[in-house]
This record gives sequence, structure tokens and C-alpha cells, in this order.
Amino acid sequence: MRLIFTEKYFMNISENQSNQPHQCSIFYIMNRTQAHGVSSLILGGICVALNVAAMFLWWWPLGVVYVSSALLAAFSIVYGYCAKCPCQDECGHVFPGKLARAFKRVPAPYTGLEIATLIVAMIILFVVPQYWLWKFRLLFIAFWGCAVIAGLQIRTQVCAACQNEFCPMHRKKQAV
Ligand code: SF4
Repeated sequence: MRLIFTEKYFMNISENQSNQPHQCSIFYIMNRTQAHGVSSLILGGICVALNVAAMFLWWWPLGVVYVSSALLAAFSIVYGYCAKCPCQDECGHVFPGKLARAFKRVPAPYTGLEIATLIVAMIILFVVPQYWLWKFRLLFIAFWGCAVIAGLQIRTQVCAACQNEFCPMHRKKQAV
């Protein structure tokens, strides 16, 4: 199944009775893995935005610290993890793979420090804010709704198709 995301496509399809995508840059075709990868990335971004909202509502300097830490964490994930990924061109999340190419790192197994950095970055992004999210129950519920859907999409669709054999979550390693 291929999903085609474009406004013009939907406008023209009834006029032209054609479903052939144009070669224009506004037309972008995603396969199923990428559709799940991009939508789960958006849901992850919504989770971070909810964290930002909770932090700023509680005390604005805390929000500033969180935004700075979140940017640093996101950078460390792209540089330390995605930039060494051997399948950036087929990245299910699409955008991290494209960003990571800028660093031109050689694909290789991850070091213990890189794995530890990834875990710390994920804790900063998604675990630390739980204390403040809990003080705003609607934000807390919205966060977990988005997080569960994104987690299921990543685990069942994105990881299942990912060829990054260096990742500890890669299906071949999980099967051993
Ligand atoms: S497949 Fe995973 S590790 Fe590789 S670039 Fe995409 S998000 Fe990063």
C-alpha cells in the first residue's frame, strides 16, 4: 500500500482522473513504513511540546532549561546514533536520516558511550518531564495517548523494517 500526501494531488485527481504522481517537489510518496515513521515522529514531537507546555506552565525558567536540554538531546541522538546508521537513506522516520547525512560519519557498531548517551537523551526528552506533566492531568493523558500510539507504530512497523544491524533493538539481535 502506498500513501500519497499532497494537497494538489487530491485536488487534481477528480479533474484528471489520474493517480499518477507528478515530478514536482511538493509531491511526496511514502511507503507504509515511512508513513508510520513520520507520523510517530510527529506524535513524539507532540509529546515534547506537551512537556514544554507543562514546564512553562509550572515555572518559565524550567521551560527554558527543558527546551535547551531537549535540543541538545535531539542533537546527540542524530549525531551519536543516526549519523552512524548504515541505512539513513531508508530511514523509516525519514527526517533523522536526512539530517544525519550532514555529519558524514562512517557507519560502525555503536560504542557503550553512544548507547548510554542515547538512553540519557531519551530520559531527558520523555521521562524527566513526567513529574511536571502529572501536575496537569490533561497534558499527562494527552502525552501518554500520543506516546503509546507512537511506541506501537515504531515497534511493530518501523523497527520491523529497519536494516540498522548495529542497533541493539534490531530484530535479529532480539531473536538471539
Ligand atoms: S533508521 Fe533509526 S538510526 Fe537510522 S537514521 Fe533512521 S532513526 Fe536514525
